[in-house]
Amino acid sequence: MKVTEHIEKAKGKTLFSFEIIPPVKGKNIKELYNNIDPLMEFKPPFIDVTTSREEYIYIDREGLLDKKLTRMRPGTVGICASIKHKYDVDTVPHVLCGGFTKEETEYVLVDCHYLGIDNVMALRGDAMREQQYFEPTKGGHKFALGLVEQIQNLKCGQYLHEVIETDDCADFCIGVAGYPEKHMEAPSLQTDLKRLKQKVEAGADYVVTQMFFDNDKYFEFVEAAKKTGINVPIIPGIKPIAVKRHLNILPQVFKIDLPQDLIDAVDDCKDNKAVRQVGIEWAIQQSKELKEAGVPSLHYYSMGKSDNVHAIAKALF
Ligand code: FAD
Repeated sequence: MKVTEHIEKAKGKTLFSFEIIPPVKGKNIKELYNNIDPLMEFKPPFIDVTTSREEYIYIDREGLLDKKLTRMRPGTVGICASIKHKYDVDTVPHVLCGGFTKEETEYVLVDCHYLGIDNVMALRGDAMREQQYFEPTKGGHKFALGLVEQIQNLKCGQYLHEVIETDDCADFCIGVAGYPEKHMEAPSLQTDLKRLKQKVEAGADYVVTQMFFDNDKYFEFVEAAKKTGINVPIIPGIKPIAVKRHLNILPQVFKIDLPQDLIDAVDDCKDNKAVRQVGIEWAIQQSKELKEAGVPSLHYYSMGKSDNVHAIAKALF
């Protein structure tokens, strides 16, 4: 079932959903299941599975470093299929422009369709670690907009090289990213919103936001999006702070602001156990207010560990 159908079916009740990251290549998938298991108590209608870009690794060959390009966390579509069947829940694989040609993306989409996956999240991806700016892959898309168009075309039987008469449409529900504090590369929030609108006009059915820690940022974003003519559901993405380092890493990587009260509370913590608790309490307060405002779903960035998301969900659902 599509994410938008779950939202419609809920008739204004806020859903609970979350995002997981595939394990590092070679690691047992059991740990991932152990983290998903406790969250199933809250009946998530859908679970997102991220996709990681390829990266350079260096293999020591008797003193000489051999540089290899590899994807360290493969398996997004496989994990989606596995979770779908294990837990009887809908899954949303993240599909990236970065690192994929359009041809490879088409294969991923065909796999998803055969596996009965009804949703995909269309994202550009970030620059590789060695790059200052995002560089499109040769034969790939430059912006998420192109990816949305490709997915939308498939619905009409339009594959990359031909139009195929089909009685079996890959009718995906398409999610895209939105940024309450604007995307780091956008010259202004208004311009970023215009580009978000282009994704929606091209076929995106819903938006999931980047993490934010001040709900006003989300509410203002939703208002501004509506004024721009964006009328699809905008799902807030919530990340509980878990370690002290997040105070520096999150603003640096995601170009988001942290409220002073949150910074002070984390600063006062003696250890990361205390920080985790502050993160849980902050996310509970955020989530309660968002739920009262009737947001479509509360979508948590679990980053593979579920104990804090479980504690938050327990207070809300
Ligand atoms: P786009 O929509 O393409 O926008 C990127 C930038 O280009 C923006 O500044 C936009 O304003 C600008 N832009 C868009 N169209 C145009 C145009 N026509 N002309 C000029 N400028 C334009 N990353 C991963 O690697 N894996 C994941 O699984 C993943 N999941 C995510 C989930 C969510 C909910 C979010 C919010 C982000 C996720 N990301 C993920 C991160 C995402 O890939 C980055 O934030 C990336 O930098 C931008 O992706 P986008 O899809 O928003 O790009």
